[in-house]
Amino acid sequence: MTALPPATSAPPALDPRHSAGGGVDIDAPVVLADLLDSRTRKLLQQATRDLGVGVHVIAQHGQVVAGAAVPDGVLAGATYELRAADDGSGHRFLVQQLLHEGEVIGWFAVGPYPPDREAGVKRVATYLGHLIDHLLSTGLEKVYASRMHSASMEDAYLELQQKNARLAQAVERLQELDKIKSNFLATVSHELRTPLTSVIGYSEMLLEGIAGALNDEQRDYVKTVMEKGEQLLGIISSILDISKIEAGRVNLDRSAFPLGDVVQVAFSTVTPTARRKAIALKQELAPSLPPLWADRDKVRQILINLVGNAVKFTPEHGTVTVRAEVAPIKRLDPTERHDEAPAPRGMRIAVSDTGIGIPLEAQNKVFEPFYQVDNSSTRQYGGTGLGLSIVRSFVEAHGGTAWVESVPGKGSTFFVTLPIGE
Ligand code: ADP
Repeated sequence: MTALPPATSAPPALDPRHSAGGGVDIDAPVVLADLLDSRTRKLLQQATRDLGVGVHVIAQHGQVVAGAAVPDGVLAGATYELRAADDGSGHRFLVQQLLHEGEVIGWFAVGPYPPDREAGVKRVATYLGHLIDHLLSTGLEKVYASRMHSASMEDAYLELQQKNARLAQAVERLQELDKIKSNFLATVSHELRTPLTSVIGYSEMLLEGIAGALNDEQRDYVKTVMEKGEQLLGIISSILDISKIEAGRVNLDRSAFPLGDVVQVAFSTVTPTARRKAIALKQELAPSLPPLWADRDKVRQILINLVGNAVKFTPEHGTVTVRAEVAPIKRLDPTERHDEAPAPRGMRIAVSDTGIGIPLEAQNKVFEPFYQVDNSSTRQYGGTGLGLSIVRSFVEAHGGTAWVESVPGKGSTFFVTLPIGE
């Protein structure tokens, strides 16, 4: 049944854009099958039923695409026009070659039918033949295009997969490096802190006159050694804190304590500077404020950093105020629905100043490590850009939030929410 005439047995030369070298192989039988969508197949089946005669589409190498197999003798006699052919044993068919760009890619056949019905069968077969021809000329382009499209999609997908794999490797490596960096920083800062504490301790002892009285000049020098030592200790402590945070080693040791005590400690650390700049330090804590339920050391650090910045970035004769009241511990997200459970109660602490302020575009960035609004800030005000990053990490470790509201030239208010003891 599949022995084909020599003229039609050569592989079909399809559109050269899609043949070897074009990246997409087109297989004529498959293409033909693709073209006969379910609607066309139904139409052919319907025609078979209405005529009481088989309607067949045969692809290259004899594959049946629709209907049933047709004797080779019938196909061998086919031309590009619909014509009657005999299978040699008296069965009659109407048959036509299916061409694409001058090459035979299959056959369309109707039959067998009794000789007296030829005229009627021919009318229907002519119509169906035109229909399939039309499908071939318009549909092949679409099939090519969609094959090209899926091939390029596949390429893009493979490329994406490879990129993802490379990215995942890079992320893993970076995470490893980040851990190494954090551990290195933690170790180095710890090692630096120990001798520095001795430097500060011995300068303090010298100032107290333990090794004999100092003249004014000596006293000034030793005082400078002590102050610079303390400044350095502050920077090293910040680096140690940030490396612990980055290594995920923030452990909270919670207890209940009044906020007022911690505010006093923070004020006492800035009092010398505040006096020198004639800055007023005020606290306005709501009456009957409940105690905090938090890590005391961390809250002290949070307030020292916030009050320290407030004094640092406020010009002479300004005011720094610490306020606190009971409030939801999470800042309400405007998209949050009101029928959801209310946020747990906590304390909102606000540290306000009448200082230089922070431009809107920098207000979230100031919480990033090493970020300073003005690059000359380090020279003018000192600091490392780590203080607020530590504040946010410590606050978030408590389940709270830290943010800032500020008007450049007028002042800033830093807010933090922390949990309270019930
Ligand atoms: P540091 O103060 O050591 O530079 P911080 O992380 O504490 O680092 O602050 C980051 C930056 O945010 C500061 O350098 C400064 O530009 C800005 N900033 C912080 N607090 C204030 C404030 N109260 N008023 C104005 N600018 C501030």
